[in-house]
Amino acid sequence: MLASLSERLSMTTYEFKSGLRLALMKLENSLSSRDGSLPNPIVDLRYPEERMAARLVERLGLAPPIDVEKLCNSLADLSFRTFPIDIDGLCLDLKIPGKRPKVWVSKAMPPVRRRFTLAHEIGHIIIPWHRGTIIDDIEAPSSGEKNKYREMEAEANRFAAELLMPSAWATGLAERADHAAGLMHTLHQIAQVSFPAAFLKTAKFGRPGFVGAEVRNGLIVRSQRTPGTYSLPPEVNASIEHVKMEAAYEPRILHGTEVLYYWWQMREDLADPGGDLPDWRKILDGILTEIPAEYRYKTRASVNAMIGLAIGREPKGGDVGRIYRRGIEAAHNRENQNKWVARAVSHHEFKNYILARARDRANQ
Ligand SMILES: [Zn+2]
Repeated sequence: MLASLSERLSMTTYEFKSGLRLALMKLENSLSSRDGSLPNPIVDLRYPEERMAARLVERLGLAPPIDVEKLCNSLADLSFRTFPIDIDGLCLDLKIPGKRPKVWVSKAMPPVRRRFTLAHEIGHIIIPWHRGTIIDDIEAPSSGEKNKYREMEAEANRFAAELLMPSAWATGLAERADHAAGLMHTLHQIAQVSFPAAFLKTAKFGRPGFVGAEVRNGLIVRSQRTPGTYSLPPEVNASIEHVKMEAAYEPRILHGTEVLYYWWQMREDLADPGGDLPDWRKILDGILTEIPAEYRYKTRASVNAMIGLAIGREPKGGDVGRIYRRGIEAAHNRENQNKWVARAVSHHEFKNYILARARDRANQ
């Protein structure tokens, strides 16, 4: 009953306001790219609701941990309640002339979730096209959801993530962190956000060269990589025991409640193990004999392109260890790609193929 009430009160204005939001996005994007100057960090945020959170942080001079309860109290009548149904909170009287908004938040929540819910409610209060009454669903997906009510929830979630972990602040932390696991731990500790929220922020802002995975009961439930990282992250649903990241150091692991977070850092180089090798084309020929004849031509082209692109990131005549590492990194986590490419990559001679190519490039 509450959900239908919420829909009646908030849907009609939403449809009009979402047009306004699109126009705002277009305008801001055109302004930031027009003269080719570097956009400032606030305009650089992808969504208008993220930029609103960033502006609020800047205007009020806030720094993590953000006191979201105090902030919410300054914007609305806030009370903590026991709800007869399983919801985190709701907002009443949003953008109603002459009325101060009301925020009701469930008493029955652990502190980190309560903080996120409060930040989410502040989002509903600040975002201009969120009106009337809104029942919270903070598990709403971040995108791809057509339902407008769910989209408003996703908008409030993005606002909340930016309010609790401002990007300008996270960027500064990321520059000083020597490992993604350390960055994630710091975000979690200082901003007082959940591990999943800190995990996603780390994937977005961490330095290049890190791959992360959330592991539950031995299975990967989500995986990410930092910007500028060429290794593919492990596939979702893969068993952590089967994940091989040969171009990476041993992972650092953070322990959440019933969940583990793995972070791998790519190495700078992999030592050439030595030994004579035939020409890399011959090694690949040998590998391809185990693949049905009709798929060989395409598989050869795909494998050569994949490894050629990867080792091409190091200069000709460069260090063989660095070139070799690039090739091994490109072969990470290919199990669920094209079946025959995956078969070739898992062949016991595949590392020798990469090594022979790396030596070839190093000698050019
Ligand atoms: Zn909500």
